[in-house]
Amino acid sequence: MRKLSQDTQFAVLGAVIVLGALGYVIYDLSADRTALQSRARELEGKLAETEEMLAESEEEGRQLAEALEAEQERLRDLGEQVEEITGTVGNLEKLAELAPELLQKYSKVYFLNEHFAPERLTDIDAEFLYDESREEQVDRRVWPFLEDLLEDARRDGVELYVVSGYRSFGTQAAVKSNYVVQYGSGANTFSAEQGYSEHQLGTTADFITTGIGGTLSGFENTEAYDWLLENAHKHGFTLSYPEGNAFYIFEPWHWRFVGRDLARDLDRKNLHFYDLPQTEIDTYLLEIFD
Ligand SMILES: [Zn+2]
Repeated sequence: MRKLSQDTQFAVLGAVIVLGALGYVIYDLSADRTALQSRARELEGKLAETEEMLAESEEEGRQLAEALEAEQERLRDLGEQVEEITGTVGNLEKLAELAPELLQKYSKVYFLNEHFAPERLTDIDAEFLYDESREEQVDRRVWPFLEDLLEDARRDGVELYVVSGYRSFGTQAAVKSNYVVQYGSGANTFSAEQGYSEHQLGTTADFITTGIGGTLSGFENTEAYDWLLENAHKHGFTLSYPEGNAFYIFEPWHWRFVGRDLARDLDRKNLHFYDLPQTEIDTYLLEIFD
């Protein structure tokens, strides 16, 4: 074996040491890289997990919002139902206070019950009475409509007065003889004034005007009658017995309160109260005084 010089030996040793250290450093670096890679994978995993959780909670949030909306919708529906029921109860209470007689049809064979009487009557202002000395009354709920009608006519320069309002069953006999005198024998047989039903309701008025000698006959030829034909429906009044009706003689002076809705509909359709079936008329009762 060749003997190496001492210098060479040192150099070799130095190289070995350097290589060893380098190897260690390389090894160490590589270990670090492995650790880093693993750490990165770990973090990536966590990130994915977090993203998933986030997506899940977003989904949960959406579902919660939907559930909340559904619940609110349910509560709204429930509220509407309660409102509807309350409304129905309110309407029933209102209807219970309204006598169905108010909108019933009467005829030669079907009269109002003799015991029927309006709950509360009110005096018609004397300024609207043809004969101020003779007090006349109407149902207190009808009066505001009648007063509006009379004032409306006055504004239009039309002389319109009430000659007869409420009449009880009991006062009919006396009135009857009076009317026979007023209308003459022609009106005697089939005048509604003898049927009295509509006047007994307290919702009906006979109108009169000046210039026809204080009687009702001839009323159909007056400006007051034309005015009523044009305007009475706006105040809820309708002509009960028009010319050619099947019930009574033509009574141009006799107007019955049926409520604004019904009076307007009759006017629009060019129909009369007694033309309608009772079932259809009854649907107007709830709002007769509205
Ligand atoms: Zn009358």
